[in-house]
Amino acid sequence: MSSVFDDLVGQEHIIDILKGAVAASRTGSDSQEMTHAWVFTGPPGSGRSSAAVAFAQALICPNQGCDKCNECQSAATGGHPDVEVIRTEGLSIKVEEIRELLTRVAWAPSMGGWRVVVMEDADRLTESAANALLKAIEEPGTRTVWLLCAPTLHDVLPTIRSRCRHLQLRTPSIEAVTQVLIKRDNISPTMAEFAARVSQGHIGRAKYLATNESVRSNRKVVMQLPLQLGSLAAAFYAAQTLIDIATEEAITSSESRDEKEIEKLQEAYGKGATGRGMATGAAKAVKELEKGQKSRATRSVRDSIDGALLDLATFYRDVMMAQSGVTKSMINLDMRLEIENFASKRPAHSAAHKMSAIMEARNQLAMNAAPLVTCEALMCSISR
Ligand SMILES: [Zn+2]
Repeated sequence: MSSVFDDLVGQEHIIDILKGAVAASRTGSDSQEMTHAWVFTGPPGSGRSSAAVAFAQALICPNQGCDKCNECQSAATGGHPDVEVIRTEGLSIKVEEIRELLTRVAWAPSMGGWRVVVMEDADRLTESAANALLKAIEEPGTRTVWLLCAPTLHDVLPTIRSRCRHLQLRTPSIEAVTQVLIKRDNISPTMAEFAARVSQGHIGRAKYLATNESVRSNRKVVMQLPLQLGSLAAAFYAAQTLIDIATEEAITSSESRDEKEIEKLQEAYGKGATGRGMATGAAKAVKELEKGQKSRATRSVRDSIDGALLDLATFYRDVMMAQSGVTKSMINLDMRLEIENFASKRPAHSAAHKMSAIMEARNQLAMNAAPLVTCEALMCSISR
C-alpha cells in the first residue's frame, strides 16, 4: 500500500515516530506520541520540509496518509483549508507575517481534525516574529499542529525549540538516492548514479540535474572554472560566469512556477469561469503575488549561487582526494583526469584553503553580501 511517507528517502528512523504520532492523534487523548509542536532539522536536501508536509497529510487523511485521497492530494498542493505551508519569499519572516498567520489559523479546523502549519524556514524568523509564534505554540488545548523546519536546532530560538519535539533527518546515502531516481523517476542507472553522486545526497537537486540537460551543462561550465583561473582577468570573468549561470538557472526554474501560480489565482477569482476578465480584487491579488514572486526570485538566485559554490567546493575536495591518492571516493569522477592533473601541479594543502575560502563566501552571501563582489573576491583569492 502506498503512503505519503514513501518518498522520504533514508529516513526510516523518523517515519516510525511520525506514524506513531498519527495513530495516537486519532485517539483524541493527549498522549506521549502526539504533540502539537515539532521541529524537523536536517541538511539541505535531506527533505525536512517534505517530511513535514507528509506528516501534515497523514494527520488530516482519513486513512493516515494514503497519498491517494482528496485530503492527501489537496494538502500536498496547498489547496487544503486546514493545511498551511509557509514558504518564505524573502530573506526573513517578519512579525507582521506571523501575526497575520495567527489570525488565519485561529479558526477551528474545517474538517474537525487538525489544523496544520508547516513552516519551511523557521530559521528565518526574526526575533520578534519568533516571540509572536511562541505565544501561539504555548497556548494549550488548541487543534493546531506546528511543524517547523530548519537546518539545525541552533537555528531555532531556544524558547521555541524547548517546546517542540525534535526530529533530525539524515542525509540519504548516494546509493539510496540512486535507487529512488531509478525506481520512482524512471531515470537510467548511469544518469541516476551520476546525479546522486554529484548532488551529495540532495535528492531534489539530484532529480533536477538528472532531468535537465541545461542544468547539467551549466554545472559543467562551473566545474571548469577552477581550471581556467590563472590571471586576475580570468578571476573576474569566472565570477561573472558563475553569477550569470546561477541567475539563468533561477529564472528558468521559477518562471514556469510563477505562471502557474498566477493562473491558479485567476482561476480562483473566476476568470476562466466567467470569461469577463478579472475583478479589481483579483488584479490586486495578482499584483501582491507578483511582488512575492519577485522577492522569491532574489532568494532563488542566491540559493542558486550557493549551489554553484558548493559544486565548486567539490572540485577542491576532489583535488585533495587525488593528492592523497584516494581517487576512489572522488565526487567528480567524470573529471578525474583533469583533476588529477591539476592536483599534481599544486602544493598540498592549497586546496583546503580554497575550500575554506568558498565556505567563507557562502557565509557572507547567507548574511546578505552583494553576490557579484563576493564572488569576485572569492575567485581572486582562489586563483592565487
Ligand atoms: Zn489520504
